Amino acid sequence: MPKLPTPPNEQDRLAALRSYHILDTATEKDFDDLTELASAICNTPIALISLVDKDRQWFKSRKGLPVSETHRDASFCAHAINNPNELMQVPDARADERFKDNPLVTGDPHIAFYAGMPLVDENGFALGSLCVIDHERRELTPEQQSALKTLSAQVVTKLRLRKKVAELENAGTRIQKLNALLMNKEREAMQIIEHTPMAMALHTGEEMNIRFANKMMLQAWDKNEAVFGMPFNLALPELAALDFPRTMRQVYRKGIPYHQTEERMAYEHGGRIKEFYYNYSFTPLFMPNGQVWGILNTALDVTQMVLSRLSVERAEESLRLAVQSADLGTWFIDGITREFKPSDRLKELFGYLPHEEMSYEAAINQIAEEYRNKVMQGVEAAITRGDAYDMEYPIISHHDQTLRWVRATGKVYPATEEGQAPFFSGTMFDITEQKKDEQRKSDFIGMVSHELKSPLTSLNGFLQMLQLKAGKAGDQFTHSTAVKSIAQVKKMTSTINGFLNAARLGSGKIQLHKQKFLLNDLISESINDALLSQETHFFHYPPCREVEVEADRDKIGNVVSNLLSNAVKYSPGADQVEVNCMIENGQAKVCVTDRGMGITPEDQEKLFDRFFRVQSMATRHISGHGIGLYLCAEIIQAHGGHIGVLSQPGEGSTFWFSLPVA
Ligand code: ADP
Repeated sequence: MPKLPTPPNEQDRLAALRSYHILDTATEKDFDDLTELASAICNTPIALISLVDKDRQWFKSRKGLPVSETHRDASFCAHAINNPNELMQVPDARADERFKDNPLVTGDPHIAFYAGMPLVDENGFALGSLCVIDHERRELTPEQQSALKTLSAQVVTKLRLRKKVAELENAGTRIQKLNALLMNKEREAMQIIEHTPMAMALHTGEEMNIRFANKMMLQAWDKNEAVFGMPFNLALPELAALDFPRTMRQVYRKGIPYHQTEERMAYEHGGRIKEFYYNYSFTPLFMPNGQVWGILNTALDVTQMVLSRLSVERAEESLRLAVQSADLGTWFIDGITREFKPSDRLKELFGYLPHEEMSYEAAINQIAEEYRNKVMQGVEAAITRGDAYDMEYPIISHHDQTLRWVRATGKVYPATEEGQAPFFSGTMFDITEQKKDEQRKSDFIGMVSHELKSPLTSLNGFLQMLQLKAGKAGDQFTHSTAVKSIAQVKKMTSTINGFLNAARLGSGKIQLHKQKFLLNDLISESINDALLSQETHFFHYPPCREVEVEADRDKIGNVVSNLLSNAVKYSPGADQVEVNCMIENGQAKVCVTDRGMGITPEDQEKLFDRFFRVQSMATRHISGHGIGLYLCAEIIQAHGGHIGVLSQPGEGSTFWFSLPVA
């Protein structure tokens, strides 16, 4: 058998054949009708639509042949396709050199006659052939040949149609899939827009018709879906004054987005005019050809944020004004970095010009030496433990070395949840004049007291002599007058001593002479002394255990006497004072409780200040100088102890102090 010829464009021909997706498909009536027709017209027992694959010929339709494919080598059609435009006729294969050894000739189906017309597609590729076969030698009439050619063209048309239908079907399912995808995407987009925590709306057309608006936008407008499709101004007459459509139209025409931040708007909402602040944008939406087809309107309601910021700003402004008018210096220390920020007035107090740098260390070094450590400790205790900071100290001015007294108060602000680091800040003001006044007062009182002391000592001596003499002479009246006079002189001496002490304290001259003693005994003595100088009150002092302290006995005695005499003095309507002594939390504690007039919380804060006296109807006729409690506090604090008061106006007070036990 001679070698089988192969068409020159075999690879492209095979590709073309595959593009029909027809190989190994089921039989189809359309094609079977054509083989039936070919067999009838040509009067042959066999008619085939044979498609020539790489190594085989496969029959899409076969009449009179039981097999569905044969090897390509034995294929008659493989010969026919080499001349795509010609009908190939083999009248007797048994006598033809090309086919006489062909197994299809020598064996089943015993081909003798073959006529095949190639199936040529629109690109000129011969895909196979429509052929008729007989077991006898024969030849086709010209009419039969022409009919076979027509039928072959029909087969190709059917093949092409079939391919188109398949392609259309594919395109159809693709479109369906795309549609489904689009619908999904749209649903997703709508869900995203609906749930975005931002008001969103879409506008189209010159009148900015509302195509869509999410829930938040409808809420912002106080409208519902009924506004969809309506022109903006018609749907939202409340916003007409703001003329948004005009701005949107510009965005529409120019294609440039428009943004506004924290814009204030007042419009009717929920039946009344309300104030809002919005961050909003009008964004142009483009078609692929660059034309704008709509405006995306997005808005964020920042009303709460802006209002709270404004109120903070207003508060800060009033604070700033208050600080300015009170001539206060202010400072700020970062609790973590210890960065120090002084205000211009603070710099001025330390003797700096506003543009000059002033470090924390420099400021500390300008504090008078004897106060420096105390101030540093105070600052540290405030920052680390949150202790209250309120101190008075002298500072030496930076440029001219003059001395100036200041009072500094501060507060620690702990770290906040919003991430603000802890900081320590406060104010400072000039108290030089006040200090000078106090000093002048102290100096004067000190001087006067000193001058009074020696005549008083002589007077006391004379009175004692008088008492002695009158006693001996049995002059009862003179004796008792002398005793009373001595008691008055004693009272006067103790008042003068108080003044002297206060004057000394003011200039930092307090000295303690410590010794160990029983505090409970000292209280008994003080009560006995107090009983001598008054007859209206009874002291209730329940027995207490021994409490030993190491302190200045005379000065602590002064403190107790002072509290006892105040308790009597400020409870004119009562007749009893209770005194208690105890050990509490490792400290010796003494309490003096009266049932007197009591003290308001505001006055309680100033009670231990020098020269402070409560100004009220009740205290108007009670004499005093406002130094007793000040001295008590100074003495107790000099001992490292504490002093305080608990009081209810109209019910009474408990003054207490505590000292470290020995
Ligand atoms: P003085 O009694 O000389 O005025 P103090 O320093 O002892 O000065 O007291 C200061 C002020 O505290 C008094 O003027 C008085 O108004 C008030 N005070 C002191 N003790 C009591 C008390 N037990 N009850 C009510 N008020 C008191």
